[in-house]
Amino acid sequence: MKVVEYMEVAQTNEIEIAKDYVNHLYKQVVERNPHEIEFHQAVKEVLDSLIPVLAKNPEYIKKSVLDRIAEPERMISFRVPWVDDNGNIMVNRGFRVQFNSAIGPYKGGLRFHPSVNASIIKFLGFEQIFKNSLTGQPIGGGKGGSDFDPKGKSDMEIMRFCQSFMTELARHIGPDTDVPAGDIGVGAREIGYMFGQYKKLKGSFEAGVLTGKGIGYGGSLGRKEATGYGLVYFVEEMLNNKGLGFKDSTVVVSGSGNVSIYAMEKAMQLGAKVVACSDSSGYIYDPNGIDLNTVKQLKEAESKRISEYVNEHPSATYSEGCAGIWQVPCEIALPSATQNELDKEAANILLSNGVKAVGEGANMPSTQEAVDLFIENNVLFGPAKAANAGGVAVSALEMAQNSARLSWTQEEVDQKLQVIMKDIYSKSMQASEEYDVPGNLVAGANIAGFKKVADAMLEQGVI
Ligand code: GLU
Repeated sequence: MKVVEYMEVAQTNEIEIAKDYVNHLYKQVVERNPHEIEFHQAVKEVLDSLIPVLAKNPEYIKKSVLDRIAEPERMISFRVPWVDDNGNIMVNRGFRVQFNSAIGPYKGGLRFHPSVNASIIKFLGFEQIFKNSLTGQPIGGGKGGSDFDPKGKSDMEIMRFCQSFMTELARHIGPDTDVPAGDIGVGAREIGYMFGQYKKLKGSFEAGVLTGKGIGYGGSLGRKEATGYGLVYFVEEMLNNKGLGFKDSTVVVSGSGNVSIYAMEKAMQLGAKVVACSDSSGYIYDPNGIDLNTVKQLKEAESKRISEYVNEHPSATYSEGCAGIWQVPCEIALPSATQNELDKEAANILLSNGVKAVGEGANMPSTQEAVDLFIENNVLFGPAKAANAGGVAVSALEMAQNSARLSWTQEEVDQKLQVIMKDIYSKSMQASEEYDVPGNLVAGANIAGFKKVADAMLEQGVI
C-alpha cells in the first residue's frame, strides 16, 4: 500500500474508533442518568463535535477523559425549608453540581425556577465547563439552583428562602472552592441576601465567594451588562467577518431579563433597530423600535408583565405565547430567554424571513434540529457556550478584583470584556478550521473549550 493510501485508511479507522467510542459513551450517559433529557441533549452535542479531535488525539480516548468529564465530580441535593408570609412551612429542593475543577474553582450561576431539576442543573453545569474554559479565565464548571418559584413572592419571602438555601450551600462553597452567581430568577437582590447569610455563618467577609454582588460590597462594574453586551460583541464579530454589522439591521431578542435587556441596549447603541422581545407569557412587537426605558421600568423596577408595554406604546402589539416571537421578520435573532425556546419550526420561519445571524444569549435556547438547520443554510450561528460567555467572564474579573481588593472602572471592565469576546471568537474559528469544519462555531467552541480542560486533566492524573 502506498503511504498516502495507508494514511487514508488509518484516518478512516481512527474516525470510526472515535465514533464508536462516542456512541458507547453516550449510551452509558443515558443509562446512568435516566430521564435527564436536557442533560443528554447537552452531552450529545459536545460528543458529536469532538469526534475529529478524538480521532487525532487517541490519548483522550485511552485515558477516558470524556468518560470522566461526563460524570460530575460532585452533585449535591438538599432540602430548603422556609416560612411564607402567612406562617406556612414550605419545602423546596436545592442543588449544586460541582462538575469539573481541572482549570479552576467550580464557577457558575444559581437558577431559581419551578422547572429546575437534576437534569436542568446538570445540562447547565456541563455546558459551563466548556464555556468557562473558552473565556481564558481560571474557572472550572459548576451550577446550582432550586425549584423555588420567585414569581409573586414578597421581598421577605425571597430573603427567607435565600437564607435557608445558603444555610446548606455555605458548607460546600468558598472563594477557592466553588463560586456561585446569578442565573434565571437570581439577580443582585438574591445574591445580596445569600452573601449576607454566608458572611454571618462564616464570620468573615469573603468577597470572592459569590459574584454578581452589589457594587457597594465587592461587585464589579459592568457585570450586570456583561452577558448581553458580550453577546452583541460576539455576534458583531461574526457579522464583521462577512462584511456585515448591527448597523441598520432589524433585530429580535427573546426574553426581557438581564441578558435580553443589555443585548438590546448594546444592539441599539451599534445602530440596530430592535423590534421584539418577550417574557414567559407572550411577546411584544414594536415596528418603531422598542423603547428600552419602558422595558427596564416594567421588568427591572416593577417586575410586571411585558404585555403592559403596549399601554404606553400604542404602536406596539402584544401576542400571547412566547414561541410566536420568531415569526417577527428579522436579520439577527438573539434567543435570550431559556433552553429549547427555538425549535425546528421557528428556525424554518426565521430562515424563510431571511435571517442572517443567530446568537444564543440563553443557555441551549435552540434545539439540535434548529441548530442543524441554521448551519446547513449557512446562517452565522453563535452557540451559547461562546456567545453568552461574557457574563461568567466578567464574574471571573469580579473574583480577580476581590482577590486584589481593588475595583476597576466600567470602561476598564468593558474593554477587557471586548478583548475576551474577540478572543473566544477567534479561538473557536481557529479550532473549526484546524478540525475541518471551517466556520462551524458550534464545533469550534466545543473543541477549543474541551482541549484546555482535557489537557489539564491529563496533566493532573487520574483523580
Ligand atoms: N449564569 C451565567 C451563565 O450561564 C453566569 C454564571 C456566572 O457568572 O458564574 O454563564
